[in-house]
Amino acid sequence: MKTFNPNDLGEKMLVEDCQKINITTYIRQAKAKLKGVLLTAELEMSDQIIELTPSKTAFNGLRYWFKCPKCSERVGTLFVHPLNSEIGCRKCLNLEYRSRRYKGMLVDHLL
Ligand SMILES: [Zn+2]
Repeated sequence: MKTFNPNDLGEKMLVEDCQKINITTYIRQAKAKLKGVLLTAELEMSDQIIELTPSKTAFNGLRYWFKCPKCSERVGTLFVHPLNSEIGCRKCLNLEYRSRRYKGMLVDHLL
């Protein structure tokens, strides 16, 4: 049995005539939606309001950053101080990495 093939009509259709679904675009859109949901959830969990600032990536996507509540710097990671529960970036909380404190020692990354 012969199945229908669009090319049997004679001329080939043009790529430009077809609706295009690009995997990169699709993933980017899905991620953007997902990020929006995640960000909202995170903000509601915190009793302190943490601002988020997006920046454009080279490939026209968005990258989100936390705005440190203390110094207003854009940071990828915020910390909660174990003693006073203050929220801030590594610099503001005056934190250092275990690997720096124990120079040369092999330690697990706990953070
Ligand atoms: Zn800071």
